[in-house]
Amino acid sequence: IKKHVRKPEWLQIKLNTNENYSSLKKMMRDKQLHTVCEEAKCPNIHECWAVRRTATFMILGDVCTRACRFCAVKTGLPTELDWQEPERVADSVVQMNLKHVVITAVARDDLKDGGAGVFAETVRAIRRKSPLTSIEVLPSDMGGVYENLKTLLDTRPNILNHNIETVRNLSDRVRSKAKYDRSLQFLRRAKEMQPDIPTKSSIMIGLGETKEEIIEAMDDLRENHVNILTIGQYLQPSKKHLPVIKYWKPAEFAELKEIALSKGFHHCESGPLVRSSYHADEQVDMATKQ
Ligand code: SF4
Ligand code: SF4
Repeated sequence: IKKHVRKPEWLQIKLNTNENYSSLKKMMRDKQLHTVCEEAKCPNIHECWAVRRTATFMILGDVCTRACRFCAVKTGLPTELDWQEPERVADSVVQMNLKHVVITAVARDDLKDGGAGVFAETVRAIRRKSPLTSIEVLPSDMGGVYENLKTLLDTRPNILNHNIETVRNLSDRVRSKAKYDRSLQFLRRAKEMQPDIPTKSSIMIGLGETKEEIIEAMDDLRENHVNILTIGQYLQPSKKHLPVIKYWKPAEFAELKEIALSKGFHHCESGPLVRSSYHADEQVDMATKQ
């Protein structure tokens, strides 16, 4: 018999859907845009969109060539590249009056450039149309091809984020085609290419990892000069996805944050509802003050 781990009360939150949210949602449909905020049913959507003025766009379509076992994004053969998407994303950034935007993308292993061309064009379009908005890019490893990373970094985003997602020991099981060491190497290369752009990574916990393994992941990231870390609770998007093994307690998240800061991360967000892009606006401020 499978043991069912009950969701603790600190995670029983209701999605706040007010009028503003509904009209933004409609705008996304009209412009054929996708946000992680909606796709992942992120519990922070009201706070992010309405109060903090930040959002996470997912570009290059909504079908991914990979099938990570924690992720709710559809898997399959992606659609053709849409070169108008960068302009539409930039227009939405203006319309939403965003202070900070995170741009992520599905993994396009079907493309030679891993989607870097459209990704870079999106950053440039946002800079043109909304120069005061800070931009964080969150690419996949883009096939581990550093030329693609260079294309993206040449646009000078404010933060380069690339998630290792989980501890070394669980990596092969959790992430289908990505590799733990390849991700570390990717973050290292980003730092070598543009040393003044802060790098960031995230892990989800609750998949069966130990505290020691989390600390080891912190050490691995610091060894590769990563500046910002986020740690959040993994939530199972559907029955087909990996089950939650443990709900880490708020006090344990707080302790992990202390450990991370003692290891030299400039900034660490750690909490049950923390997502890769949570409070990302503050991280830019912190990073520019360093
Ligand atoms: Fe969107 Fe990230 Fe905010 Fe969630 S935390 S609503 S994914 S910007
Ligand atoms: Fe989801 Fe990213 Fe994995 Fe694709 S590569 S399945 S979008 S986590």
